[in-house]
Amino acid sequence: MADPKGFLTTPRQTWPRRSAAERVADWNEVNEVYAGQRLLPLVGRQAGRCMDCGIPFCHDACPLGNLIPDWSDLVYRDNWQAAAERLLATNNFPEFTGRLCPAPCESACVLAIDSEPVTIKSIEAAIAEQAWQLGCERPLAPPGPSGRSVAIVGSGPAGLACAQQLTRAGHRVAVYERADRIGGLLRYGIPGFRLEKRLLDRRLNQMCLEGTEFHPGVTVGADLSAAELRARHDALVVAVGATCWRELAVPGRELRGVHQAMEYLPLANRVLEGDFAAPAISARDKRVVIVGGGDTAADCLGTALRQGAAGVTQLDINPRPGERRTAEQPWPVHPKTYRLTASHEEAQALTCGCDGSDGPRDSSRDGSRQAWDAPVADAPGASPVAGADARIFSAATLRLSGDPQGHVAALHLAEAEPADRRPRPGTHQAIPADLVLIALGFCGPEPDSPLLGELALDLTPEGTFARDHGFATQVDGVFVAGDAGRGQSLIVWAIAEGRAAAAAVDRYLTGATALPAPITPADRPLVV
Ligand SMILES: Cc1cc2nc3c(=O)[nH]c(=O)nc-3n(C[C@H](O)[C@H](O)[C@H](O)COP(=O)(O)OP(=O)(O)OC[C@H]3O[C@@H](n4cnc5c(N)ncnc54)[C@H](O)[C@@H]3O)c2cc1C
Ligand code: SF4
Repeated sequence: MADPKGFLTTPRQTWPRRSAAERVADWNEVNEVYAGQRLLPLVGRQAGRCMDCGIPFCHDACPLGNLIPDWSDLVYRDNWQAAAERLLATNNFPEFTGRLCPAPCESACVLAIDSEPVTIKSIEAAIAEQAWQLGCERPLAPPGPSGRSVAIVGSGPAGLACAQQLTRAGHRVAVYERADRIGGLLRYGIPGFRLEKRLLDRRLNQMCLEGTEFHPGVTVGADLSAAELRARHDALVVAVGATCWRELAVPGRELRGVHQAMEYLPLANRVLEGDFAAPAISARDKRVVIVGGGDTAADCLGTALRQGAAGVTQLDINPRPGERRTAEQPWPVHPKTYRLTASHEEAQALTCGCDGSDGPRDSSRDGSRQAWDAPVADAPGASPVAGADARIFSAATLRLSGDPQGHVAALHLAEAEPADRRPRPGTHQAIPADLVLIALGFCGPEPDSPLLGELALDLTPEGTFARDHGFATQVDGVFVAGDAGRGQSLIVWAIAEGRAAAAAVDRYLTGATALPAPITPADRPLVV
């Protein structure tokens, strides 16, 4: 424990964000630019808040088993090189988790029992950047070719982590991806303002130099048969994600202007990649309603604000969570509490006009106030006056209505009863809408995937690919990793799945393995 009084004397401070007005005028990362020397002292002091507990619950709450007290101590002592080595020993991609992880480790920090937890995620992000600056991220040379080869289908964080582990173990690894670029949801789902794609490209470049082969633009099961792939390689890892989206089953769903989040977000990401100047689905000058309460909905919100929406309302069917954890979600579980994401902060700042009112998008901000303050003010569960949250909680969508041309014009909602989510009588409300985005989560791998039919993989009752304790399916030499096996989850779990599946594949190929397996397929987040 480097600083015995750090947790008493140093207040919590996370990696600072740029002002909301500045953020919505560009697509760069919402956090302040990583400027090593300026941020490092701040991070070092924060690391000094770690109490080096005898039993570090943070470490257990991280699916990767990140060695948090070890690297916090080293950061406090300004030994970034050793901290980076400790971090990279358990996490292939800390630059992604340091920015995007919801940090269950912080909920489990012992300080969180009655105080503010250590800023573990910000410390991780800083070490991740220092690792590149200090040369700890040099491409690693494999120990010598094993003579075995592995095909990985899907290039999200699970497929990439699995590929890096197996390449570094000496196997020939080829990653097949149906999209035209590698990265899975890191590439086309998560917007640039939360993960700049140069960070993904930096990592992919390292992997290429290590010898991992990438084949974008190949749909396995259609362009290339799974049987052929299996014949070419000694093992096959299916890491195709859980991209089957949930539908909004209400009258009017068929109207024009109603889209799934994952039809909308990839287009915005493609504009940033330079594929076209303007997206086919844009929020510009439109009154946008987002149906859903999770990360994907927040990403739609931030994207719509940057595109110049006339106003954005987000509907969450759940009641507004409390500010603090309740007895039903005690420490050290990851509680559901009220939080403002960066996108919610931006929406709030734009409606009150208190942040950057001299910014470049004044006209759309004015529109936003006129467009949705009045109609939404009477809606259930919220009163979106200037500066209020863009969300309406306890909101059940009833139907969509359109104009004579068949385009959506309004969304009809009512207050959802907390017990059964049924609409409460007498609370009907209509919100004008030119663009409705559905962000209701994902139910599993796509059931009509050609890969599924060809390999005849067994499915679990939840609709994911069945596998045994060692990530193996019922088909010899075929393994499953990531959301495809676990169901919709998180990047940190996907990386842990990729690492553990790599260990299983290595054992299958060679009879033994020295690769780490941080989780089993049965492991789940801590619950009461
Ligand atoms: C908008 C959005 C925001 C999110 N934000 C966060 C966040 O902030 N933090 C967090 O922790 N998690 C977040 N998540 C969840 C996280 O992105 C996923 O849990 C994670 O990406 C799953 O990784 P994966 O490798 O299993 O699958 P994916 O990332 O889904 O990758 C699967 C890949 O397989 C490819 N594929 C599918 N079928 C085939 C085929 N037949 N042939 C070839 N390729 C194929 C797909 O094109 C895809 O690229 C978010 C998800 C979304 C949608
Ligand atoms: S990966 Fe997530 S859970 Fe693990 S240490 Fe980092 S922020 Fe915490």
